[in-house]
Order: sequence, then C-alpha cells, then structure tokens
Amino acid sequence: MLRPFTLDRPSTLGEVADLLTAHPHESVLYAGGTELLLLMKEGLIRPRRLIDVKTVRDLDAVNAENGTLTIGATVRHRGLERSALVQERCPLVAGVARHVANVRVRDGTLHLWSRRGARDVPLADFIRGPYETAREEDEVLTSVRLRPWPAKTASAYLKFGVYERPTLGVAVACGPDALRVTVGCVGPRPQRLFEVEGKATGEPAAVLLARAEELGAAAALEVEAVGDRHGSAEYKRALTGACVKRALQVAAARAQGQQIHTRYAHTVIV
Ligand SMILES: Cc1cc2nc3c(=O)[nH]c(=O)nc-3n(C[C@H](O)[C@H](O)[C@H](O)COP(=O)(O)OP(=O)(O)OC[C@H]3O[C@@H](n4cnc5c(N)ncnc54)[C@H](O)[C@@H]3O)c2cc1C
Repeated sequence: MLRPFTLDRPSTLGEVADLLTAHPHESVLYAGGTELLLLMKEGLIRPRRLIDVKTVRDLDAVNAENGTLTIGATVRHRGLERSALVQERCPLVAGVARHVANVRVRDGTLHLWSRRGARDVPLADFIRGPYETAREEDEVLTSVRLRPWPAKTASAYLKFGVYERPTLGVAVACGPDALRVTVGCVGPRPQRLFEVEGKATGEPAAVLLARAEELGAAAALEVEAVGDRHGSAEYKRALTGACVKRALQVAAARAQGQQIHTRYAHTVIV
C-alpha cells in the first residue's frame, strides 16, 4: 500500500536543488513513476516527498549539436519514437522506443546536474547494479547524449519476453570498422560482450552471417547471467546465445541490403 507523500512540482533545476537540500533523505525525484511507485508499494523505499521532474522547464527537448544527439531527461518514449532528429541520427533508438526500452543499447553519456556543478558520466559507469547508479543524492539527470554511428552501420535490437517485462534484450551494430554486441536484463547490469566483439570486429557482413552461430555460442559463454523468476542462469545463457545469433543475422543481412522475415514467438525485432 502507498503511504501518504507530498508532491513537489518545481519549474527550475534551482528549485529542485532547494527541495533536495531542504529535505535530505526524504525526497526522491520522479519522472513517469512506473519503477518508483512499484518500489514504494512494496515498501522497499518510503520517501515522504516526491519531486516531479516533468514540470522542470527545458528537460523535454531533443537537440543535435557538435555531432551529438542530446535527449532531455523527461523526453517520453513516444517523443523519441516520433522525433525526426532521432529517426535520422539514431534510428535504432527511435525503433526501440516504440517497444518500451531505453538507450542502454548505445554508447551514451549521462549529464548530471547539482548546485556543486555538472558532470558527464558514461552510461557504462552509471549503472552499477540492480536499482543502483552512480548518481549522488543531490544530482538530477538532465539529459542523455548519444554519438550517432557512422554511415553504413547496420543494427538490430531483439527483445524476448513472455510477460510484459523483457527477459532479455540484445542490441547489435556492425559497420566497416566496428562490431557492438550488448545484452540487457540477463545479469545485474547491461553488458557489452567485448570478447564476442573482438572475435569478429571488421569482418564483412557475409562473414558475420556465416559465423553467427559460433558467435552466439561465444556470447552464451561470456555473458554474466543471474537466475530470477523469468528463468535460471543456465536458461538465460542459452537464450542469450540464440538471441545474439539471431540479432547478428538480422544486422548482417541489413548490412547487405536484405531483410530476414522470420518470426519468433514472444520476440520483438527492431
Ligand atoms: C510493464 C512494464 C514493462 C517494461 N518493459 C520494459 C522494456 O521492455 N524495456 C526496458 O528497458 N524497460 C522496460 N520497463 C522499465 C521501464 O523502462 C522503466 O519503468 C522506466 O524507464 C522508468 O521510467 P519512469 O520515468 O517511470 O521512472 P520513475 O519510476 O519515475 O523513476 C525511476 C528512478 O529514477 C529516478 N529519477 C527519475 N527521474 C530522474 C532524474 N531526472 N534525475 C535523477 N533521477 C531520476 C527516480 O528517483 C527513481 O529512482 C518496463 C516497465 C514496466 C512497468
């Protein structure tokens, strides 16, 4: 059951900082509330005050400058999906947003602000584990910055889930000089599979297609899996192998100007 709380609706970052300072340890920031309210209903956290960041001006914009795409902290999934800028510069992010997800699938930098100053934290360093981030108590996430991939990069995102929440998400990008393979929802934090990437970076798409099975098997060995109500660690490793293989096949086919139309149960491919 939800306990009573006060809802603050500030309109500037300065007001957010004042509220955090005035009520330390009692206030939490909230955006959509989907994750936060679950924690509150379960009694895992008991904040007395919620600070709504959606009312803060200028956090809901998407901008492009200096080769970087900046996504404000309160931009909605729908906004990402429909943004012409995101569709043009980072089409995979626009496609993934359509299926509820996030920017874990790309290299990103998070911009954090507090009265002490602002700092940029690479996405890889930000997420430390389940419900644990590098954010300090007085900091507000104001935006996420993405560096669009070079032209001729092909990509695929695959999400498997029997229930509403995903059991696994795989993102693959391949280009003339780069291969990126990232897996989410399987271990304590999203993981880039560096060993898999190292085995095939720079390989032409036809070779990636031919080696998809072998690379999928390598992914199953490399991934750090944790069992939960969606399946055991062993199951998740096997699923990772199969899904990395499929995502590689789709991305490599796209790099060759082809499409793979196979459908899999409980699977979304973007
Ligand atoms: C049914 C369901 C299906 C889902 N499916 C997927 C899926 O397919 N893929 C996927 O990736 N995710 C999925 N999710 C998770 C979803 O991505 C998260 O619930 C959502 O991103 C949380 O956003 P929110 O705005 O509701 O955050 P909130 O619940 O409002 O906040 C989450 C946390 O972030 C903090 N916070 C919020 N804003 C800021 C800020 N500006 N600065 C600092 N801290 C802040 C809050 O204090 C809280 O700790 C699913 C969730 C549900 C409920």
